[in-house]
Amino acid sequence: MSLWEIIRRLYPYVLPYRRMVVSTLLLTLVGSLAAQVNPFVLRYTVDTVQSLLNRNLGLAQGATMLMWVSVLLLGKEITNTFIQFGQRFYGEKIRISVASTLSQDAIHKILSYQLGFYSDSGNQTGKLQTRVDRGVESLMKLVQNFFIDILPLFANAAVALVVMFMANLYVGLVAVAVLPVYFWISYRQADKLNGTRRALRGLREAKSQGLVNLIDSAVVIKSFVREDYEEQKQAQVQQNLQEAQLATRKTNFLYDGLKTFVEQVGVVLIIILTAYLVLDRQISIGAIMFHILLFNNVSAPIRQLHRIYDEMNEALTYSEGFFDILDADDAVEKTGPLQPDQVRGTFDICHVDFTYPSGTQALHDVCLTIKEGTTTALVGLSGAGKSTIIHLLCKFYEPDSGQMLLDGQPLADYDTHALRQRIGLVLQKNHIFKGTIEENIRYGVMDATFEQIEAAARQAYLHDQILELPRGYQSDAQQLSGGQQQRIAIARLFLKNPPIIFLDEPTASLDAIATEQIKNSLDAIKQGRTVVIISHSLAQIVDSDCIYVMKQGRMVESGTHEQLYDLRGTYREIFDASARSLNIEKLARVMVDDEDEVGDTAA
Ligand code: ADP
Repeated sequence: MSLWEIIRRLYPYVLPYRRMVVSTLLLTLVGSLAAQVNPFVLRYTVDTVQSLLNRNLGLAQGATMLMWVSVLLLGKEITNTFIQFGQRFYGEKIRISVASTLSQDAIHKILSYQLGFYSDSGNQTGKLQTRVDRGVESLMKLVQNFFIDILPLFANAAVALVVMFMANLYVGLVAVAVLPVYFWISYRQADKLNGTRRALRGLREAKSQGLVNLIDSAVVIKSFVREDYEEQKQAQVQQNLQEAQLATRKTNFLYDGLKTFVEQVGVVLIIILTAYLVLDRQISIGAIMFHILLFNNVSAPIRQLHRIYDEMNEALTYSEGFFDILDADDAVEKTGPLQPDQVRGTFDICHVDFTYPSGTQALHDVCLTIKEGTTTALVGLSGAGKSTIIHLLCKFYEPDSGQMLLDGQPLADYDTHALRQRIGLVLQKNHIFKGTIEENIRYGVMDATFEQIEAAARQAYLHDQILELPRGYQSDAQQLSGGQQQRIAIARLFLKNPPIIFLDEPTASLDAIATEQIKNSLDAIKQGRTVVIISHSLAQIVDSDCIYVMKQGRMVESGTHEQLYDLRGTYREIFDASARSLNIEKLARVMVDDEDEVGDTAA
């Protein structure tokens, strides 16, 4: 990205603050004029003192002049304070306002993108956050630099140079002659430091990230007794950081020294030249100080040049990643015009192929029908493509080819938000937001009353358990057990009350008791709705109205439990394996023995 392009992109963001920008620019101009007052006053003072001395006059005659000079200098300084305050404050205000609009824009865009955007390797959670933060931060540094450093300093330098030339052509030429050397050293310094700021930040992040990782993996580290190994890894990061820090400091000290030297050469040249001109009676003695102070104004901004150059480079690097996020227009979720009042929930899927953005083809020529008001189970080994079907039904992704109909209309024609309002999704592990149980259930319907929330919790068989907690509905939801969190998700669904429900291994991460309890909640929510369930639990599959069996992205069998069992195909294979893993024969023997004993005792 070029600097020009960044300015073009930032322009609309700065536009609402154009008045503030103009005021800041005006203040900058006044400030740079005010900065030249000192050299003039000093020249006048020295010349007047000199002339008083020449005329053998003393303090009595000079007092009024001194008073006026003091008033002028102090008055200028007070004005300058206000100018600087205004300029910095407005500059910061523009920067802060633009930064928050940029961040908010990024959030708005990211929320509008398809799921595929998040799973892209460049956009994974942490990376996306870093790209937004770094992008905004470096762009804002650019804005800040412009208003607070570049503009005032360079305006000062330009005005000072013009004044020098106007006062004396030769002194002006000497001042200009030193500048290229100064520029060259600053450029070399920036070049040497190019990227070190970034590298340093990377190393610092690696260091703090390292500590976070250590804490996260403490149990594994300790159980494998890998403390020494981990310590060594950290020591290496520390060592790299140390070296990079020292190298940066070394470069800075060296070049800063060089710049001070060149600046001094400039000062010396100006002293020699002005002293010569004074002795040659071409200019007054006060002009020596006059030119030195002006030269100081000229060289001040160039001292900052390497930093400005470096930060500009950084902005060029990071803004690209940031604007890429804002520009990912083809990742925006597609929507359609259909917003029916009622959705019955009959899905017809015909010859659907689907490939994830990563390139994995998850579905091959898949056909299935989900009838309204019935429960359909999807069965298959892990990775068969079951969840992918649910993703497509929720319009999280679009199929590559094939037809997907809901109530006879293409799914793509439905308004995406309206469609999702009518779908409830319970996953293996549902996200529980930081907050209370009440807030988490309320996510189903944001303006629900407390009574409605309580009713939903009751339907999900959760209410009684919540009452047993010391803070009831105000307890921290993230502290609940897996089974309880799962029921919060189900209560959310009861509150949302959608006609279509997708259950993706809702009990896979729960223990047997919790699974049994959740089954009650699930059986309750299935009533009168269209349900698609993915489960490894036989109990939840066998009562389904229709079962579809998938294998490696293809639909291989379908029918009721009995039909599929008799078919002796993939379903039977999975069923028998599940039965064996449960050791059903032994369980059955134990249960029969148990019943016999009960029978004997009774006899
Ligand atoms: P199942 O639900 O039957 O276990 P999935 O539908 O989750 O299977 O996965 C089907 C295939 O798609 C697998 O090969 C899996 O690795 C792949 N897959 C799933 N999700 C993604 C994703 N977000 N990006 C890329 N590939 C994925």
